[in-house]
Amino acid sequence: MRTSTLIISIALLIATAASAADRPNILFIMSDDHTTQAIGAYGSRLAKLNPTPTIDRLAKEGMVFDNAYCTNSICTPSRACILTGQYAHVNGVHDLRGRIEAKRQYLAVEMGKAGYQTAMIGKWHLKEEPGAFDYYCVLPGQGKYFDPVFRVQGERRWPNNTIQFKGKHSSDAITDVALEWLKSGWDRQQPFFLMHHYKAPHDFFEYAGRYENYLADVQIPEPENLWSQSQFGSIATRGANDELLPHIGTSIGRRNPRRNYVKHYKVDANLNDEDAQRAAYNVYLKHYLRCVKGVDDNLARLFGYLKQIGQFDNTVIIYTGDQGFMLGEHDYMDKRWMYEESMRMPFIVRYPKRVPAGARSSAIVENVDYGPTMLAFAGADTPSVMQGRSFHEICETGKEPKGWKQEAYYRYWMHMAHHDNPGHVGIRTKEFKLIFYYGCNYQGKQRTPPGWELYDVRKDPTEVVNLYDDPDYAAVVAELKQRLKKLRAHVRDDGKDFPAAERVIQEFWDDDERDRAEARRISRAYLEFKSK
Ligand code: CA
Repeated sequence: MRTSTLIISIALLIATAASAADRPNILFIMSDDHTTQAIGAYGSRLAKLNPTPTIDRLAKEGMVFDNAYCTNSICTPSRACILTGQYAHVNGVHDLRGRIEAKRQYLAVEMGKAGYQTAMIGKWHLKEEPGAFDYYCVLPGQGKYFDPVFRVQGERRWPNNTIQFKGKHSSDAITDVALEWLKSGWDRQQPFFLMHHYKAPHDFFEYAGRYENYLADVQIPEPENLWSQSQFGSIATRGANDELLPHIGTSIGRRNPRRNYVKHYKVDANLNDEDAQRAAYNVYLKHYLRCVKGVDDNLARLFGYLKQIGQFDNTVIIYTGDQGFMLGEHDYMDKRWMYEESMRMPFIVRYPKRVPAGARSSAIVENVDYGPTMLAFAGADTPSVMQGRSFHEICETGKEPKGWKQEAYYRYWMHMAHHDNPGHVGIRTKEFKLIFYYGCNYQGKQRTPPGWELYDVRKDPTEVVNLYDDPDYAAVVAELKQRLKKLRAHVRDDGKDFPAAERVIQEFWDDDERDRAEARRISRAYLEFKSK
């Protein structure tokens, strides 16, 4: 080798090493079903209980996104959206049956190509082996809260590669695994990309014993719409003349006789409806918040270690949930709905080298954008298979780049499964939310009444007044329907995989008098079916 070539080679080596050292680690933390109402930094009614001091510090030192949305508010689909950067109708994970095999785990694949050491720890829920990661230690399926079993990368083949953590709560075990990997698994020559996913606070909210007394003597603040919301909903969610109120959406109080928290928590049967509902709400929220506290305390442990090894400020730390959650708003439990508490995700990012402290953004971002954003922080481009777009510029400047999206797309497919939510599709802008409950399954069957809802989220952030039929909003409705139609084409939800369901969507789209009469007929038929 000639001297000049040697010098160039050495210079290149040094440059490569320097750029690797310059690149931040990326720590993506996602808790299952952790909703914004239960994070202090989001300032809801529960903030005064101080449920998340560690996450709030992260928010104070980083940026909080107020309009981060899930495009299909349920566990497996949301995880698939994040990993593939694609909407559910493109990646094929419409519901809990979905799976993503290694070659489509694009986010991990691209991080690997970018020179990152990749690891996936905790709740995975995508069935196939997390084979695109350098290391994994994941819960099988939903996993267990106590004495959790994990599938660990190693000599034994998936899915028989299990180990059990006896005597441990899952949040503690997941944190222990991550700390162990950082200590002895991570090769410090490379930056790391770690997906750190808690099972908590997913139902049924089994918290570690040390939280038994947390909030024990506290009356949990209630959302106003736990009680009164006479202008909320539509024929799709209430039935004609409210006849389906007992059958649409599982409840806190006794409204839904099939599934409610009065029944689940075995609240004193002698209590009247209101007192029983209040009692069930308190038990529900205390269980949930005790799980949240366990996550927050464990994050303090994880961050403490990163500080100890001098990597805390050299790591892009993202905190999110896989979707939001209804904590009694509209008397609902669970997620799945397009209503704000369910569709909205927490999204907090801290990276003091590039992200200003104490900043907030109202930019609309979707979970399909998370992967591209993390790749941008890693210095990598978004692969063409991903539909999402990086918002790292928003994280760094607080400003939306030219042409940034002004709307979020939503579609929930699991019609009337588990929590009695009808299939729906909709659009969320900064001003409004338009929801179309088309009310059928993939085959166009099991019909519930189709109906539309419009909320003016500027004036009515808790979405209690459906304005769809208000003549003052007729022009808004017409415009939003056009935008929703265009958005469906843009995200490529063309309905061709499920033509029978698509026919129902098209049939009831214009919502004329004939459609409305048909909706009333379907409402009555559904009531008769439920009364059998
Ligand atoms: Ca979830």
